[in-house]
Amino acid sequence: MKTVYLDNNATSRISPEVLEAMMPFLRDLYGNPSSMHLFGGQVRKNIDRARQQVANLLGADEDEIIFTGCGTESDNTAILSALAADSCRQHIVTTRVEHPAVLGPCKKLEKDGHTVKWLSVDARGMLDLDEARRAIGDCTGVTSVMYANNETGVIFPVEEVGAIAKNAGSFFHVDAIQAVGKIPLNMRNSTIDYLSLSGHKLHAPKGIAALYIRKGTKFSPLIIGGHQEMGRRGGTENVASIVGLGAACELARKYMEQELTDVKRLRDKLERALLAAAPDARLNGHPEMRLPNTSNISFEYVEGEAILLRLNELGICASSGSACTSGSLEPSHVLRAMGIPYTAAHGSIRFSLSRYTTEEEIDFVIEHVPPIIKLLRQISPFGRKTA
Ligand code: PLP
Repeated sequence: MKTVYLDNNATSRISPEVLEAMMPFLRDLYGNPSSMHLFGGQVRKNIDRARQQVANLLGADEDEIIFTGCGTESDNTAILSALAADSCRQHIVTTRVEHPAVLGPCKKLEKDGHTVKWLSVDARGMLDLDEARRAIGDCTGVTSVMYANNETGVIFPVEEVGAIAKNAGSFFHVDAIQAVGKIPLNMRNSTIDYLSLSGHKLHAPKGIAALYIRKGTKFSPLIIGGHQEMGRRGGTENVASIVGLGAACELARKYMEQELTDVKRLRDKLERALLAAAPDARLNGHPEMRLPNTSNISFEYVEGEAILLRLNELGICASSGSACTSGSLEPSHVLRAMGIPYTAAHGSIRFSLSRYTTEEEIDFVIEHVPPIIKLLRQISPFGRKTA
């Protein structure tokens, strides 16, 4: 059975070019980049090149990039580093719809005595800038807001939030893990102090990520040890994956236009067809301010997990907006924060495309989803038997 992979916000396939770039460093070029000999030096040069490739994608300088072990580490590092900079500024401002990589450390810090202001979102998953203005103040040490939401794809007005944060003297961290490689970003003339990205969301391997740290920004490392990454992240470098991340960033620049046009066209085609074919289907998230690859649709009166199981039988991979907690299905914190009605949140499915998604795959999904919804509604525990 062929796999139709529409779960690219969860993780993405490694590009063949990325794998090819990595192979020499898994096979032959195994020197330690910190070694004095030429063999190690050759490896060091490739790390430097990868750093430049990541910087180019972000419109940053290479000494503003450090490599980390995952996006979660980048997020944790940025938040803790910002708070370490000034003992008088220990308040945190973030949103209710962040990924657990930000929610987790913020909840822990709240438990430890920090004040955390959790910004809400409206029914379309969008932030209210007035609420941000009220929340960010003289005691705010870090404002952490995601660039784009992993479940809905909604893009936040980060530069506007950043201007508020800068005005109040707060560091500004952006989790851009879902945005990098999908939409153009530029750190020049930006308000962002720290920005996280992760390899496995943009066709590089899992277990490699990066953190952008604006030049001159105070920084405290999370992982302390060796002198690697200019003393900002200890540990012998994951060379092959770093090289892979660099190659993936270069490819992302090359294919950016394709993300914004071809991928978006396929996403829109899928979305339009499913919303039209399945009655009581609704789009979750802002219709325009959204990543070009993401579509989160609620099929009311059916359970997302049941849809996923049927899709799975056809080789279609997607995600649902519910998670199994203590034996019962709970709608995700993102959909709950948006106030999506229970019957809709339960039946939400996220389709996330990539530049490897084909028209035939989208046609296949368009053909199969509506009959699945129809069938599931006939046996729905929510009681709706029609359509
Ligand atoms: N932040 C966002 C928005 C994400 O989507 C993810 C991954 O799903 C992460 C952080 C965590 O990244 P990683 O899996 O590399 O730790």
